[in-house]
Amino acid sequence: MTTFEALGIDARLIQATDELGYVNPTAIQEQAIPILLSGTKDFIGLAQTGTGKTAAFGLPLLHIIDAAARHPQALVVCPTRELCMQIVKEIELFKKYMSGVSVVAVYGGASIGLQIRDLKRGVQIIVATPGRLIDLIERKAINLEQIKYVVLDEADEMLNMGFQDDIEFILKNTPARESTWLFSATMPAEIRKVSKKYMKDPKEVTVGKINTANKSIDHQYYVTTAQHRYETLKRIIDFNPGIYGIIFTRTKLDAQEISERLTREGYDIDALHGDLTQQQRDKVMGQFRDKSLQLLIATDVAARGIDVVGITHVINYELPDDVEIYTHRSGRTGRAGNQGICISIVHAKEMYKFKQIERINNSQFHKLDIPSGKDVCRKQFFHFMDKLLSMDISHGDYETYVPMLAEKFAEVSKEDVLKRVAAMEFDRFLKYYENSEDLNLRERSRKDAGDRGEAGRGREGRERIGARERNEYAGRSSGGGGGYTRLFVNLGTKDGFFKASFLQFILDMSDLKKEALGKIDMKDMNSWIEIERGAAQQMIRSLDGKKYKGRSIRMNDADSGGPRRAV
Ligand code: AMP
Repeated sequence: MTTFEALGIDARLIQATDELGYVNPTAIQEQAIPILLSGTKDFIGLAQTGTGKTAAFGLPLLHIIDAAARHPQALVVCPTRELCMQIVKEIELFKKYMSGVSVVAVYGGASIGLQIRDLKRGVQIIVATPGRLIDLIERKAINLEQIKYVVLDEADEMLNMGFQDDIEFILKNTPARESTWLFSATMPAEIRKVSKKYMKDPKEVTVGKINTANKSIDHQYYVTTAQHRYETLKRIIDFNPGIYGIIFTRTKLDAQEISERLTREGYDIDALHGDLTQQQRDKVMGQFRDKSLQLLIATDVAARGIDVVGITHVINYELPDDVEIYTHRSGRTGRAGNQGICISIVHAKEMYKFKQIERINNSQFHKLDIPSGKDVCRKQFFHFMDKLLSMDISHGDYETYVPMLAEKFAEVSKEDVLKRVAAMEFDRFLKYYENSEDLNLRERSRKDAGDRGEAGRGREGRERIGARERNEYAGRSSGGGGGYTRLFVNLGTKDGFFKASFLQFILDMSDLKKEALGKIDMKDMNSWIEIERGAAQQMIRSLDGKKYKGRSIRMNDADSGGPRRAV
């Protein structure tokens, strides 16, 4: 194992890293630092976040800049203000024993006046987010004339957030740039393009496994008719009670109208679009950031550069025209090690476009059934009950009141109290969803396709068609069971599975192909899987007895003595 001394780092920097407890360089540091110190012009470092990338470029930068010259020499561009502040903090720690070196952070959402003042003090290293940096360039408040080194950190995130043009603008506005160092966790085609255009024979280093697609995002879609789009959106929101998300529309008008409609119906939402003043925009963003707004509805242009931590869902109310925009939208979730969900509401006519997005995005998209009214009510009910159970009752004056209440409630059972509490909360939902319709766009069966219209189709017909679609979804029709066998498993929707995620789970566990499966029938607690006879044992071996969320999985042949589904 090598040391920082062996990498050729300045002794003052080693003293600082020693104090920080860095004993040995991490893999990316070990590989990048000698290259960056050797005078190599352009460099690409592929490594995940948390692998020590900041020191991998921070230490060489501090080593090579001229501390005596008090003008900006190095520029680090990164996607978010949090990262910007973190990089500056680390560089400050590294340069503890180097006098005369200054570093400044430049990011949006903070006083531009103060940042301009800091820049005027004479700094050598600027760490910036693209939006604010461009603002400063346009105000001629920043001098990039003598920038020799440009570091693009988390380049894939920056492109995901729609900063491609900004990055190119910045690269074009650094006329004395000698070296460009690009760090990224993934290597999508867009980054290759940027590197080809602005870098010369870059040395490339890869640490760990690099993906081209962001695997922390689950891409899901629902197919409905054009006139059911709004209702479907509401179902999705209602089915995800803890949602903290951004909804994308194509036009300002849609964003505004949907926001107003949902607000009237009691949802916690506001719109972000180009017609807002900067002040209104800041207000909406502030509320969304501190979570006093649960949902934000935005157009692509207005949402450019939005950087909010912890977004659980991105919803495409309408699909974008451009595949790249889909990537930018979905990239708002599933960040910083979190899992995220990107949901698209798709209309039958848009399926071709959707397939194109799926192919280019290089991810598997999961088709899900739009939840029924009953599904929504059940989900809301349990969410509410979970909230009720986790309420902190340790403070407040409850102890004083409880004896009085005990008398009042003497005749009422615990179950009745729960029902009453639920009724207070759920009457609105239950009433609303009482006779709610199936919003899924179902293929018509041949028999139904005659003169009966969509609306006139009976419940029986819908269910039959639904069952056929489930077969198709699982890859093929079982054709009545011929070479198939049926497996029982004690996992169901209560375990947090949707059909698509369940399918993925059993395929991942068993290493089998989707084609081996027939119909999948999921209930709350259990599921039944049709599978080719020859593959059944492999599936059972891979799942039976394994753990899922701490619970033992039980899987067996459904038709030979295992638990049977009540019909
Ligand atoms: P980064 O990927 O730059 O965000 O770094 C992730 C974390 O690893 C930070 O908390 C760093 O302080 C820490 N770190 C970076 N390099 C080293 C090292 N060589 N030894 C120990 N910790 C390190």
